[in-house]
Amino acid sequence: MSTIESITLMLALVYSTSLLYWGGKKWGALVSGALLLGATLASFFWPLLLILLGAVLVVTAIGQYQPAFANAEGRPNAVREICQHFFALSMLLVGVQYAINAGLLYAGETPWLMRPDVGDAFLPIAGGIELKAILTLGLWDQNHPAAVVMLCVVLLTGVVCKRAFCGWACPLGLAGEYLYKLRKRVIHAELLPPAWIDWPLRMVKYLLLAALLYLVISMPSASIPNYLAGNYHKVADLKMAVFFMMPSMVALIGFGMIFALAAWRRQGFCRYICPYGALLGIVSFLSPFKIRRDTQHCLIETKGMNCDKCTRACPANISVHTQKNIRSDECQACMRCVSACPKKQALQFSTRNGIPLSARGLLIVLLTIMFMLPLFAYVSGYWHSQTPSAIKMELIQKLDRIGH
Ligand code: SF4
Ligand code: SF4
Repeated sequence: MSTIESITLMLALVYSTSLLYWGGKKWGALVSGALLLGATLASFFWPLLLILLGAVLVVTAIGQYQPAFANAEGRPNAVREICQHFFALSMLLVGVQYAINAGLLYAGETPWLMRPDVGDAFLPIAGGIELKAILTLGLWDQNHPAAVVMLCVVLLTGVVCKRAFCGWACPLGLAGEYLYKLRKRVIHAELLPPAWIDWPLRMVKYLLLAALLYLVISMPSASIPNYLAGNYHKVADLKMAVFFMMPSMVALIGFGMIFALAAWRRQGFCRYICPYGALLGIVSFLSPFKIRRDTQHCLIETKGMNCDKCTRACPANISVHTQKNIRSDECQACMRCVSACPKKQALQFSTRNGIPLSARGLLIVLLTIMFMLPLFAYVSGYWHSQTPSAIKMELIQKLDRIGH
């Protein structure tokens, strides 16, 4: 496991263990702490143990000097923002580490910096094909195992806590938020499209998802072993990196349009283009948790007031104040509506029978799914790519000639 991956993993898991402890779930903290230590020891990778000790010290020190921050006791939206920035920072560092590794391979030098396998999360088609290989052939890919692990991680977050991955973890969502705020400084108007344009645009991401699913489903199972053993799959990550680092003119125009979309409409990229958002939108219907408005506490029913603060806070333009349960596929469980609500208990992210998931609880669930699963994949030997550097070094020189 690479340095940045190890540091992020340990910090996140130690932090979620500490949140369980501060939240009064002492047994939960003990179990997750024991699992974390057990998995670290079982990995036989001593740097991970050292980083675990460092992470314990860092989280303890933060708890000493910034208890509210360490206990995730701020407004739900503030907790979410910190979480999203943490993910964005770690992805940025992962990107730098990946770029150095790829640069060294290209220069023909044996990389002194490990390739961060988590970068395979950007290979959703490879992840889908690998999942199909596991399910239909019992074949476990050894070139990009992290791709299928991360695909399952993202799907599991959707099943448990709706599109919280989009609202709490995705760095692209955060970048879009900054672009939107920048645009609002120059042009103050909201510029929302009318519903008859908005709805077809929202379907675009489902069409893109359908195209990607078609690629995976239409590949005959019999040809999957050849694909997984082929050079194209071995360098799929490098091809993706080159696509982003040295984009063609067409790609640049595409990026420009996506940036313009994100700046024009809040969450424009998540709402209209992102196939991962579409996938999570579908999976999110399985989640038992929804934003629920309790009419016993809401100011509309209890005081007859014309309150719509929750609706105005919602970046997805969901009419929260007129519904009891928010089932929308666009809800990212961001809890901005909960933060904006002046009446405690009027809005909660909860199950149908009223079990709430607080911002702290959601953070624990998200960090546990997103970091514990990769840790166990790593310990079971199904995380690190087995493609030798020598082969990558050879293939990277003829990248543009390698096709399906
Ligand atoms: S309904 Fe609430 S949680 Fe869902 S997207 Fe809107 S503000 Fe966020
Ligand atoms: S902000 Fe709170 S009190 Fe106001 S309408 Fe929404 S749920 Fe009701």
